[in-house]
Amino acid sequence: MGDSSVGGPLLWPADEPWPMCAEPNHYKPLAAPVGPEPIAMVPVVQLYARDVPALAFPAGTDLLQILWCPLIHEEEPYAANPRLHWRSTALTTAGALTEEPPRPHVTDEEFVPRPCTVSPTPAVEYPNWDLPDELDELLGERFDDFEIEHGYSYHEVATTQQSKVGGYPAWMQTPRWPRCAGCDTRMEHLLSVTATEPGMGRRLPLDDRDPLQDPAATPSWQAEADTAAVATFGHHMCMGDMGGMYFFVCRTCPGTPYTHRYDCC
Ligand SMILES: [Zn+2]
Ligand SMILES: [Zn+2]
Repeated sequence: MGDSSVGGPLLWPADEPWPMCAEPNHYKPLAAPVGPEPIAMVPVVQLYARDVPALAFPAGTDLLQILWCPLIHEEEPYAANPRLHWRSTALTTAGALTEEPPRPHVTDEEFVPRPCTVSPTPAVEYPNWDLPDELDELLGERFDDFEIEHGYSYHEVATTQQSKVGGYPAWMQTPRWPRCAGCDTRMEHLLSVTATEPGMGRRLPLDDRDPLQDPAATPSWQAEADTAAVATFGHHMCMGDMGGMYFFVCRTCPGTPYTHRYDCC
């Protein structure tokens, strides 16, 4: 619980009830009805500020947690329904839960992450689905030339589909940016949790500043991957079919409201 993780144990305040989902219509596909008993949510993301220096935490907080009910819900269709918490590590540690939290009595495995620690890696990326059409048209020929010359598409070297903090949402489909219910401005992409993991043919985007700073550096997309090591990585969730859950916040409204979007192939 002291580590940043995906699916790992959370540093949880003992005096705060563990989140339970009592959504009456949530379900596990192709299984018996779940019944009225609430379902314990599962840890999905825990990030300590020290591990993600570029992530702005609301004042007084340095710990971000996301949990979700690992069943299918109707609100944002075909996905788990998440909950997000910002906390102070110091305040939480003083009264942290020491017992095992409740576990869900039924789950849809595609939304239950295998616990793993994370090793955040900075990357420079460019828009994927958020690339304006005009720009896509303007650059299309150069993308084609690049792919012929190097064997990689623009999307492979310049965009990130893996789970990430910041940058562009890792949409698999057309963008659906949410607006804040409080102030009606477009919300900020906070992080994406996706089924795409290292070792699935996607590399981190090229940091095109590196060769300028260090001409001898090998851009990440040209580096040989250690395939044995990469095979052990990951949370192993398929989230539908290569799906992703995208989290958004409004930093101007009180309480840092958040919402989510989900899509898949
Ligand atoms: Zn639920
Ligand atoms: Zn707002």
